[in-house]
Amino acid sequence: MKVESTMRVPVLLYHKIYKPGRGVLVRGGFTPPSRFARQMSYLKKRGFVFYTASELIDHYNEEGVFPSNGITLTFDDGWKDNYVHAFPVLKRLGIKATIFLVPSCIGQVSEKVMASGESARAHLSNAEILEMSKHGIEFGSHSVNHKWLHELTAEEVRFEAEESKHLLENLVQKPCRVFAYPAGYYSASVERIVETAGYHAAFTTVYGPQDRVDMFALNRIEILRRDRFLYQFRRKLPL
Ligand SMILES: [Zn+2]
Repeated sequence: MKVESTMRVPVLLYHKIYKPGRGVLVRGGFTPPSRFARQMSYLKKRGFVFYTASELIDHYNEEGVFPSNGITLTFDDGWKDNYVHAFPVLKRLGIKATIFLVPSCIGQVSEKVMASGESARAHLSNAEILEMSKHGIEFGSHSVNHKWLHELTAEEVRFEAEESKHLLENLVQKPCRVFAYPAGYYSASVERIVETAGYHAAFTTVYGPQDRVDMFALNRIEILRRDRFLYQFRRKLPL
């Protein structure tokens, strides 16, 4: 099916930004810092306009389309390496972004969000989050506990959506308007609960519809460790 360019959600998804040491067995999504910096310079040079996730949603709701030259960067899980390696690049280039946090992991070195077999990893601290919030980084919710929501009861999903919003708004002192499903998993009932909790939109990874815009199942373009070269990155971009 041919997807109208205006249907394509111009949102990139990153996870960890770091370079593993030699000989370290690594799983999961990461992008080395130098590669990330190259990708960001490229986006600037191409003339993309950066929107936070909320700003992108507002634009869509007002205009009925995504901005033709707009792009949104999102980061899932709230890793400390986002502050150490991504934030300096974003600040230097004046790029906005949205980070989806797991409130129960803030300030912790935790295995909660790692795939099985991976060791614990440091998450952003309160102070790092507040500093980034002052410099154009939006914080959305990635649920309280990073459980797969389609497997939980409605009551548990409600807790994950409502409590995480509450905790993040208390911390950041700004409205928490966007949600990202852990591992991208959702169901029709999960969507409705997240909407009822007061979010304006929710992001999956690739499980949302391709032929229409569902504000509570928005797809994202995942930037993977195998996207080593700029031409591979370029091919994935929305325009
Ligand atoms: Zn996640």
